[in-house]
Amino acid sequence: MTTISPASIRVGLGQDAHRLVVGPPLMLGGVEIPSAKGLDGHSDADVLLHAVTDALLGAAGLGDIGEWFPNSDPQWKGAASDVFVLEAVKEIHARGWAIINLDCTISAEQPKLTPHKPAIRQRLAELLQLDVNCVNVKAKTGELVGPVGRGEAMNAEAIVLLVRIDNSTQTDS
Ligand code: MG
Repeated sequence: MTTISPASIRVGLGQDAHRLVVGPPLMLGGVEIPSAKGLDGHSDADVLLHAVTDALLGAAGLGDIGEWFPNSDPQWKGAASDVFVLEAVKEIHARGWAIINLDCTISAEQPKLTPHKPAIRQRLAELLQLDVNCVNVKAKTGELVGPVGRGEAMNAEAIVLLVRIDNSTQTDS
């Protein structure tokens, strides 16, 4: 049985926002969502996967998505953000951590995301190699105020819990 200590359990938080524009497809959690507008960014601008990536990196003490995948790097131009999550998961596993669960919130005025939550949840579970019951996806509107409420942007937040699965007492990574 795992002994709970600061070296054996970690929490990580991620947040991101992107502008909504006419043109690009809307990608959320690795799923294309029918929408009049998509998110603007260097990669596919998947705001949820960027928040999840930051939560994963943060939990393992590995910095942030901008350090790993700079938006000045041409190799990430138009990239599917799945690769950022998969790389973060690989780094976490390589350091002896297992992911326990993910919870996340997407804030968007339009489109309504409720019908798409099951597909997003399933895709996140696949990317993190988790049972779907260990992934939760919440969706909120911006209540018509601020950039989200005016339909100018989407925001996402994510939190993950890691547990060390080897017997190492390593605490620096
Ligand atoms: Mg981003």
